[in-house]
Amino acid sequence: MSKAPSEPTLEEACVARGMRMTDQRRVIARVIEESSDHPDVEELYRRASAIDNRISLSTVYRTVNLFEEAGLVTKHDFKDGRARFELIPDEHHDHLIDIRSGLVIEFRNEEIEAIQEVIAKRLGYRLVDHRLELYAVPLADKPDSKQKPD
Ligand SMILES: [Zn+2]
Repeated sequence: MSKAPSEPTLEEACVARGMRMTDQRRVIARVIEESSDHPDVEELYRRASAIDNRISLSTVYRTVNLFEEAGLVTKHDFKDGRARFELIPDEHHDHLIDIRSGLVIEFRNEEIEAIQEVIAKRLGYRLVDHRLELYAVPLADKPDSKQKPD
């Protein structure tokens, strides 16, 4: 999910956390920011090395882990054996994963949000976070198959 233009960029957020930003890290930060499709490290590497061919796969690995440790990027495991990355979103969202195409669709549903709090409360807890992943195949007559998700 991409950020609103008024908010600090990933690069600015890194600098604010005292991280040393090399040219290569800057490129990788920009690539993550411009990606809304939850890319894995190999895909981030493809995009970053297209901008700067000196960037290696291991640099992308290290940089992404650094961003994750700093709490700026989040890692997902969508059960396809690849760790996927996205910026920590401002607004919580959940994911539906099309297991045929690998497409990841972001959604938010207030009923689900509410019922999870109720479940936690019944178990004697106050909910502070959750992750929900729906694994799905397209319906034969998918109503909005022409509509591209954000
Ligand atoms: Zn997402």
